[in-house]
Amino acid sequence: MLYIHNATIYTPDRCLENGALLVDGARIADVGSAEAVQCPAQAHVADAGGLVLAPGFIDLQLNGGFGSDFTADPATIWAVAARLPRYGVTTFLPTIVTTPLETIAAAQEVLAQGPPRAWAGTTPLGLHVEGPFLSPAKRGAHNTAYFQAPDPALVAGWSPQRGVRLVTLAPELPGALETIAALVERGVVVSAGHSFASYAEAQAGIEAGIRYGTHLFNAMRPLEHREPGLIGALLNDPRVRVGVIPDGIHVHPAVVALIWKVAGENRLTLVSDAMAALGMPPGRSLIGDLEVTVDGDSARLADGRLAGSILPLDRAVRNLVAFSGCPAAAALTTVTATPADLLGISDQKGRLAPGLAADLVLLTPDLHVVQTIVGGRIIYKSDR
Ligand code: ZN
Repeated sequence: MLYIHNATIYTPDRCLENGALLVDGARIADVGSAEAVQCPAQAHVADAGGLVLAPGFIDLQLNGGFGSDFTADPATIWAVAARLPRYGVTTFLPTIVTTPLETIAAAQEVLAQGPPRAWAGTTPLGLHVEGPFLSPAKRGAHNTAYFQAPDPALVAGWSPQRGVRLVTLAPELPGALETIAALVERGVVVSAGHSFASYAEAQAGIEAGIRYGTHLFNAMRPLEHREPGLIGALLNDPRVRVGVIPDGIHVHPAVVALIWKVAGENRLTLVSDAMAALGMPPGRSLIGDLEVTVDGDSARLADGRLAGSILPLDRAVRNLVAFSGCPAAAALTTVTATPADLLGISDQKGRLAPGLAADLVLLTPDLHVVQTIVGGRIIYKSDR
């Protein structure tokens, strides 16, 4: 058992000053004020020194990192996952961009095989499959040679049980509505993205079961006052949550602030959309099979188009606070409770409550990661 006390705890629904939390094995046994949470005699006691204790972060979109790209080589998922705790991330969806469907099956197999012996790291909960059912009009950094029309028969093997949690598609494509319904029936979250959908087409997609928007504003038809398009439909519907890349480049900081004002922390999720160059020095890199040039802030194709980010998720949280002026609790909610609610795993992860996974992150008051705990085990400690 591990008893952590003298922490400012964001559950994140509540803030407990001078809070305490008890971990029993891989789960949280108790959380509350220091007076309310008993410290068993045999527990290891850790003084948090007044730091912030929050649920571990959940990244819904991460393409790779540390020089590896999951689409180019799905076998690298476990090695990259072992290095993600430094960003406070305890759960993530390895993201496969547009590729032949066999690559998606190979990535499913990598997850099914499980981690190598003695592995420790961030839990890959299942894939985010982004493509190949996307619009050529909003291709972003996807290889259009592999684009195809959505078809329920093509996704018959995709389910959370078989390692697919989230699928991004363009709802205006022929066959999309049937494919959305088939995925939703199996428990896969379906997201709209890389799409030129009109407002009406987007609404039809939401009626069919879309509940998320992938990197809102990026690779979408622009929001116009006479044709609000996909962006207007996603923001207007309280059933839908949205992902945003808050690196200050993909979306202007003022628009990030605007999204927060409209969607709030219960509908906004921050994502890194990070690619192979995450955690690497500037230079050349890959996303899928496309070459990318990386500088200190961004990753771009030869023609200047953005190709994923190099944004660590903990910096995304700090950026949201800086861009929007929102409270720390709200920013933390966007990477913990809200993605857990979207994925339907709020009985397992995303909050600090008895019975949930002991996935924890200890942060400075200005939200820099000090320590990360996955399933009750300390996986990362900063050397500050
Ligand atoms: Zn994308």
